[in-house]
Amino acid sequence: MATAKIMDGKKLAAQLRENFKQRIANLQQNQGLIPGLAVILVGENPASQVYVKNKVLACESVGIHSEKITFDANISEEVLLNKIKELNADPKIHGILVQLPLPPQINENKILAAISINKDVDGFHAENVGLLAQGKPQFISCTPFGVMKMLAAENINVQGLHAVVVGRSNIVGKPMAMLLLNAGATVTVCHSKTQNLHFYTQHADIVIAAVGKANFITADMIKENAVVVDVGINRLENGKLCGDVDFAECSKKAAYISPVPGGVGPMTITMLLENTIISAENSVSK
Ligand code: NAP
Repeated sequence: MATAKIMDGKKLAAQLRENFKQRIANLQQNQGLIPGLAVILVGENPASQVYVKNKVLACESVGIHSEKITFDANISEEVLLNKIKELNADPKIHGILVQLPLPPQINENKILAAISINKDVDGFHAENVGLLAQGKPQFISCTPFGVMKMLAAENINVQGLHAVVVGRSNIVGKPMAMLLLNAGATVTVCHSKTQNLHFYTQHADIVIAAVGKANFITADMIKENAVVVDVGINRLENGKLCGDVDFAECSKKAAYISPVPGGVGPMTITMLLENTIISAENSVSK
């Protein structure tokens, strides 16, 4: 019976952030450039406020310039579009992030499409999604990018392996599947309409869970020595966070498993920082 190696996203994130400080110092010394991220928050959704605060703090921790721009929940689409236009042209800003969800009067797709594809550090613009699908991504959305880094950190070569992604959202499941496919895995994408989900997960060398349901992936659903990556973040009634995977039982069977908290979560913001640095580096190499 295997006892899984823990994929420690918190430790990896800290290592990567040290490396970012060096890249930022190089940009500053050689180009006189400080990477800059603009984070736009519309309304007062408490979860969004926490996410935005954490993003700003993360920028500060490595020396990325950040600007937090807040709007009332009742602003018009036009006001937001004008702000994005301004940021697209601002040379101090290399990444623009609009915190989702947006209020109902604002068309999310229209807003994401307005962000310059060269500053789209979330990788949500349709053109960046298309580039990823073609296997030549410019920006990779942060959570799946973080998962790929975690696999690489464990020297897990996905080529030829069967990866099952549970979840098909635009921000996690779909880009995750594309990245694994581009890396040579055989990929199955499962979702709420999938029949006999067990059959697929039981035949997976790698299971990526991005469902949003606590303890959804149980030990009987995975094969011995599988790699299990838990993207889910769920809050239990007792206030504790847990993932989509039954960690206690699956960790006895898997070869590798990521915990929640301390797994994919810390990697997501770290990849946002990396995308902002990449964007700043690209702005001088173009
Ligand atoms: P989402 O948009 O709600 O997507 C959930 C996906 O799970 C959907 O594709 C849905 O299928 C599928 N699903 C639901 N019930 C299912 C079932 N019974 N069997 C199989 N598939 C099922 O969520 P998301 O934004 O992708 O996020 C997923 C989870 O990851 C959430 O817990 C979220 O909080 C977390 N998350 C974590 C991070 C991080 O940094 N760690 C970042 C983003 C998200 P349908 O498409 O058919 O509805």
